[in-house]
Amino acid sequence: MSAEIINGKELAQQLRNEMKKEVLALKESSNITPHLTVILVGDNPASKSYVKGKQKASNEVGISSELIQLPENTTEQELLTTIEDLNQNNSVHGILVQLPLPSHISEQKVIETIEPEKDVDGFHPISVGRMMTGKDTFLPCTPFGIVTMLKSKNIQIEGQHVVIIGRSNIVGKPVGQLLLNENATVTYCHSRTKDLTSYTEQADILIVAIGKAHVIQKQHIKEGAVVIDVGINRLEDGSLTGDVDFDSVVERASFLTPVPKGVGPMTIAMLLKNTIKAAKGLKN
Ligand code: NDP
Repeated sequence: MSAEIINGKELAQQLRNEMKKEVLALKESSNITPHLTVILVGDNPASKSYVKGKQKASNEVGISSELIQLPENTTEQELLTTIEDLNQNNSVHGILVQLPLPSHISEQKVIETIEPEKDVDGFHPISVGRMMTGKDTFLPCTPFGIVTMLKSKNIQIEGQHVVIIGRSNIVGKPVGQLLLNENATVTYCHSRTKDLTSYTEQADILIVAIGKAHVIQKQHIKEGAVVIDVGINRLEDGSLTGDVDFDSVVERASFLTPVPKGVGPMTIAMLLKNTIKAAKGLKN
C-alpha cells in the first residue's frame, strides 16, 4: 500500500479562498472587517517567521492585521498592559501573543489576560473549558486543523482508536479532546509511556506531536493506519522534517501528512477562521 498524502498546503489554500468570500460578505452585510493583532516579544527568528506567515495569510483573505513588536526586555507588566488595552479596543477582534515568550514573562498569565472573546489561539482556560464541554468556542488552531484535515478526506473518526503521542496543552491534549467529542476512542502516550509500540500499532489514527525527527517508523504502525505528523524538526542541512519517517511509513499507512506542507499551513488557516469567528461573536 502507498498512502494517500493529505496536502495541508492545498487544503489551506482552498479554505482561504472560501474565507475571502466570507470576509467580503461580512463587510457587505455588517460593515465589519475582522481585525487581528499579533504581539511579538523579542527577536526569535522562528517566531518572526511564523508571525510573518500569519500576517500574510490574514491579508490574503482580507483580515486586517497589525503587528506589535516589543523588545526582548519588555516587562511582564508592560505586556499585560498592552493586552488589557487591546481587550478594551472594540476594533480589535482577535489577539494573539506569539509563543514562546522570554523566560521572565509568565506565558500562563499572558494567556489568561487575553479576553476570552478575543482568544483566537484558543489557549485561555475558559476557551479550553468551553471546548471540553462542547460549547461554541475558539478551538486551538493545530488540533482544529488536524480534525479539518481528517474530515476533508472523509476519514472515519467515530468509533476509531486514535492514539496520540504528545500531551502538550497546545497540541496533544486538545486534539484528543476534539476527537473524543467526535466519538473516537482516545489513548494518550508521552515520554513516560512504557512500550510505545504496543499502543502505536493499535492505532486506526496515529497523531504524532513529539518534536523529535523520525521517531515513528513503518514497524510502529499497523497496515492502513492514518498517520498525522505534527512535528517540525530542523535537520543539519536546514531542511524541515517531521516526527514520522515519511519514506517508510508511506508504504504502510492509508493516509499520511507530509512535513512541510501538512499540518503547519492548516494551523494558520484555522487562526484565520477563529479571527472571522471573533469578528462575528461567539454563540452562548
Ligand atoms: P512539547 O515539547 O510541548 O510536547 C512534546 C510531547 O512529546 C510531550 O508530551 C512529551 O512527553 C512527548 N515526548 C517527547 N519525547 C517522546 C518520546 N520519545 N516518546 C513519546 N513521547 C515523547 O511539544 P508541542 O506539543 O508544542 O509540539 C510538538 C511538535 O509539534 C514540535 O515539533 C512542534 O514544533 C510541532 N508543532 C507543530 C505545529 C504545526 O502547526 N505544525 C504547531 C505546534 C507544534 P512528556 O509530556 O512526558 O514530556
